[in-house]
Amino acid sequence: MKKVNNIAVLTSGGDAPGMNAAIRAVVRAGIYHHLNVYGVMYGYKGMLTNDIFPMESKTVANIIQRGGTILKTARCKEFYEPEGRKKAYENLKKLDIDGLVVIGGDGSFKGAQKFSEEFDIPCIGLPGTIDKDIAGTDFTIGFDTAVNTAVDAIDKIRDTADAHDRLFIIEVMGRDAGYIALHSGIATGAEHVLMPERKSEIDDIINELQANERRKKLVNLIVVAEGDEFGGANGVVKHIKERLPQLDTRVCILGHIQRGGTPTCMDRIIASRLGYAAVEALLDGTHNVMVGVVNDKIAYTPLTQAVKAKQSIDEEWFKIIKILAS
Ligand code: ATP
Repeated sequence: MKKVNNIAVLTSGGDAPGMNAAIRAVVRAGIYHHLNVYGVMYGYKGMLTNDIFPMESKTVANIIQRGGTILKTARCKEFYEPEGRKKAYENLKKLDIDGLVVIGGDGSFKGAQKFSEEFDIPCIGLPGTIDKDIAGTDFTIGFDTAVNTAVDAIDKIRDTADAHDRLFIIEVMGRDAGYIALHSGIATGAEHVLMPERKSEIDDIINELQANERRKKLVNLIVVAEGDEFGGANGVVKHIKERLPQLDTRVCILGHIQRGGTPTCMDRIIASRLGYAAVEALLDGTHNVMVGVVNDKIAYTPLTQAVKAKQSIDEEWFKIIKILAS
């Protein structure tokens, strides 16, 4: 097996809390194995612009608890093109880099896959996205923090909803995946959760709100993923206001607060395990895979299969929501 000497790490695509903990793990595990570790700024863009620097143990001191990413992140159009990837390769080759760890989402993995097919630099992907929608892993770095941020915000909204007897429609992130909505909705005792993976019957929701009104249950929370079939909270509120104009209804869009903040214990642990495993994979020749966690064990999925996964959601979740909110 070819010996690995110099590795690089980057963060790409949307940022997610816990990326710093993953960078730290890659750097420290690499140094433990006597590798030279380089940081690439701004994702693939930094590979093209040669924004690459050597990292030491102290470069990653005091970051495990910080949101965002010290390596910054970006999207890079040129990397879609073979000429762009060639330029990136030439810059890595100048430093004799023989392994690349990419922390990002499925798009970043597609880029890594192409790059590793075209050139002799093996790549390892680590799932860093708040959406938890990548095949081959039960969790992604950032999901737990994003959900907890949403839960914290929705708890606060419940206080004001309760004071005014209001219906709140709260939009959380999730253009293609509704896990943040599902988990935060259950954890906050929401009456309804709307998400892209499942068709929601607006008539049923209206009927239930009417029944709740009759029995003087006026505080209701509806959690909506931004990519649901009605186009997020503003789409849902239109339907409800048309049919139930008498209800005191408000919309709250949580937005980017869900991406930031201190990563939770769980995200730090996942990021640390995955970062460590990424270096081990490069050393033992398990190349061009995404490292994930399945049933609490490290699992490797070929980059070609580490795609966005729209899973069907067990109806039992919705039964629980309905029964517990009644
Ligand atoms: P998120 O899930 O947060 O959006 P992502 O990793 O899926 O993260 P993308 O914007 O899809 O984010 O991809 C990040 C970068 O990866 C792109 O800007 C581009 O440089 C590279 N990339 C994505 N898809 C490809 C592809 N098919 N070929 C080459 N490079 C790609």
